[in-house]
Amino acid sequence: MSQKNIPCGVCLDIGGTNIRGTWVNTKGDHGELFTLKRPKLLPHIKESLIYLINKIYLSCPNRPEVIGIASAGPLDHKKKTYLKTANMTELDFFPIGKFLEDKFSLPVFLENDAQASALGEAMFGPFKEKQDSITLTLGTGLGTGVIINKKIWRASHVTGPELGHIYLGGNLRCGCGQIGCAETLLNKNALLKLSKEYGVNLKDPKELYEIAIKDIDPVKEILREYGTRLGLFISQLQVIFGIKNICISGGMSPLARLCDDFIKNTIKTNLVKRKWWQPEEIVYSREPNLSALYGMMAKYMEHAYLTRI
Ligand SMILES: [Zn+2]
Repeated sequence: MSQKNIPCGVCLDIGGTNIRGTWVNTKGDHGELFTLKRPKLLPHIKESLIYLINKIYLSCPNRPEVIGIASAGPLDHKKKTYLKTANMTELDFFPIGKFLEDKFSLPVFLENDAQASALGEAMFGPFKEKQDSITLTLGTGLGTGVIINKKIWRASHVTGPELGHIYLGGNLRCGCGQIGCAETLLNKNALLKLSKEYGVNLKDPKELYEIAIKDIDPVKEILREYGTRLGLFISQLQVIFGIKNICISGGMSPLARLCDDFIKNTIKTNLVKRKWWQPEEIVYSREPNLSALYGMMAKYMEHAYLTRI
């Protein structure tokens, strides 16, 4: 089937640093990925959004049916507005859905980026044949998305459970106000801090990836410690959810892949007396840059009763 006949949408991912976007269709095809630096003032953000959406719109193989926005939050997906944000105060309470619907006369969907990624992995990624999965997004924060019966599971929250704020240990104050959240031990800053403790000074975790593949000390020790923490976090999630399919996505997922043995050994040891709590599969996203964008198309498909081709 030609791409001209396949429903498609303009999908964006608004993060702390960048705004990325492309078109995605119901088959899982996508266009060129455009990236802009995210301006720090709301009027400039609005201009950038309009510019980027127009650019993607023109590159679509046919007329897009929807604009899907995945973003760091917190946000209210039903009212399509930001709440009081953690790190993007210029977007506090910005009704982005109404703003874009007025501009483009297209339906707009808004979703937390980590939950959108989880839905993307569940519909277009390694778990497209599975009903239930959890995706962890490792980057500036520690995002999570729980998918049950192919839908985002939200518990009784407006947004969904933010499992990165479960207590994991230590005494670091988290952005959410609590102490010892998993995020404080597993996000980008946590990894940089851990590396420093081993005498490896980095500006970005990607540098660690470049030296880590050479398998030298003390990098191996850093990966062991980080992988053990990640394994402990997944063990905690398994106690609650018992979901068999775990995906690790986000900018730090290639690095997490290098910790695979440490992650799996930790889970095995922790859950040795409850083997049925152990996950069957831990996979690493093939396209961590795109999973939230796929997720926004999946969200529209669920709404419009479209099936994946
Ligand atoms: Zn927290």
